[in-house]
Amino acid sequence: MSSDTNTAARRGLTRRGFIKAGAAAAVAGVAAGGLTGCGQGQVVSGSTAAGAGAAAAANPATRRIAPSWLGTPPEVDESAITETVDVDVVVVGLGTAGVPAVIAAAENGARVLGIDSQAAISNVREDIGAINFSLQRASFAEFPEFEIDPMEALEDIVRYANGFVNYDLVKLWADESGAMIDWITQICERNGDFRMNFEGSLGTQNGQARDRAWATGHSPEALTEDADFGADLGAYAEELGATLRFNTTFVKCEQRDDGRVTGIICRDDLDQHYLRVNASGGVILATGGYGNNTEMMEARQAWNQRLRINTGNGGNPTGDGIKAALWCGATMDALGAAVTFNRAACKPDETAGADVNGRWFWLGEQPFLKVNLLGKRLCNESGPYDYMLHSAFLQPSHTYVDIFDSNYPEQVRQTNEVGCCRLYPFDNGLPPTCPSTPCPPCFRASRRPGTCSAPTPSRSWPRSSTCRWRQRRRRSGATTSLRAAAGTTTTTRSPTG
Ligand SMILES: Cc1cc2nc3c(=O)[nH]c(=O)nc-3n(C[C@H](O)[C@H](O)[C@H](O)COP(=O)(O)OP(=O)(O)OC[C@H]3O[C@@H](n4cnc5c(N)ncnc54)[C@H](O)[C@@H]3O)c2cc1C
Repeated sequence: MSSDTNTAARRGLTRRGFIKAGAAAAVAGVAAGGLTGCGQGQVVSGSTAAGAGAAAAANPATRRIAPSWLGTPPEVDESAITETVDVDVVVVGLGTAGVPAVIAAAENGARVLGIDSQAAISNVREDIGAINFSLQRASFAEFPEFEIDPMEALEDIVRYANGFVNYDLVKLWADESGAMIDWITQICERNGDFRMNFEGSLGTQNGQARDRAWATGHSPEALTEDADFGADLGAYAEELGATLRFNTTFVKCEQRDDGRVTGIICRDDLDQHYLRVNASGGVILATGGYGNNTEMMEARQAWNQRLRINTGNGGNPTGDGIKAALWCGATMDALGAAVTFNRAACKPDETAGADVNGRWFWLGEQPFLKVNLLGKRLCNESGPYDYMLHSAFLQPSHTYVDIFDSNYPEQVRQTNEVGCCRLYPFDNGLPPTCPSTPCPPCFRASRRPGTCSAPTPSRSWPRSSTCRWRQRRRRSGATTSLRAAAGTTTTTRSPTG
């Protein structure tokens, strides 16, 4: 056990402790979606929940009017519920949060059921941020600059969020994420189908970049043609005895009179029968965000609707788990935060907006010159994805234009982006995720061993001769590809997630 894990264990914050704490909770545990059990979130008027939620609802000082998007739990006729399942833990939503939650519950001996409305696991994200993962620690001898003080990272995140963030949650991530990656690594490398990579880069330092970058990125590299990260994690959950049920849509939680959540009602979408799932240990709601719930988005993040271009890359989050938890008396963060990418492009004769369908455009994140529709520069192009999107909200038609020329591969190398938008090898020689445009010649050249053009490369490139994005595209059988663009593109943003 690492010293970090020891610290966590002393505080009772191991995965085992998390599951136990979840089992004891009176209100459904929420693994994702911005819900919190504390803070001055929204109180649902007339909630049936017991305890603090009900007390707050009764108190005129804390009482809130329920928003129209919340609605009320659907009535399901008892006669329509023709199947009952008894488990210890039910996980609703098999995405980035839900699949590891299923695994953690199963590893701790729980009888666990995971459900999802989709036909299979999809969109479990692969670029994972962490501090003090073992590969990261191993790099410090060669790259001492990659070492991260968790407290410093925590303070940077709080500053980035203007303080609208739960310190405890961020600290939990800062303290535990390294052990989490070690855990995920053991799982995905167990059959030799994946190798976990550490994306070591700090971008441009020494005062030349406004925002500090942290070398936190990790990504599993597929070593076989058919390997799919999410599906592989799901297979492991099933190896542990967990049951995964697809085409099954969550409807609502069930509660006792004292407010304790006892299980869920869901619907089998293939034959439309309803199921009652009794979960003696707890319900984990991991249905993601609400980016595709128009009413909720308009109420909570109207500006993002104006900036939006749909590309279909974000799944179909409609806030079902969030609403269900609120129906049970949970509270919700006052401020909504969207997963925002400036990776979408619309046609030159269109402007951004929630009704616009565009295309995924990976180069959009590069800090090329950005001007508004009057030709005026609108922001410092170097910064986190959402900063320039928020600047775009203040511009005519909430739309900007990226300007670059045929020398863009060299410009991309010079601007030295980090994270999942990096288009050439990381400082420690790891492959980039790759652009959604066909890799330009200079990137192809840089993928030959020993020809890495990244700044201060220390190892010969690459460990894989095919970029990771292309591997994924081949596996998914996708045939569409964008032409490599050199010129001017109108680009704003992708869907909120
Ligand atoms: C294009 C894109 C790329 C991204 N890349 C990364 C990345 O590399 N790294 C990273 O850390 N983050 C990334 N993100 C952000 C990341 O996807 C989300 O933060 C993360 O997926 C949220 O996890 P989640 O489990 O809460 O929700 P999701 O991953 O969205 O999973 C929710 C699941 O719940 C299911 N569901 C919803 N409603 C119901 C219902 N009523 N009944 C049954 N099932 C339901 C959905 O089908 C879905 O499978 C990316 C986001 C986007 C849009």
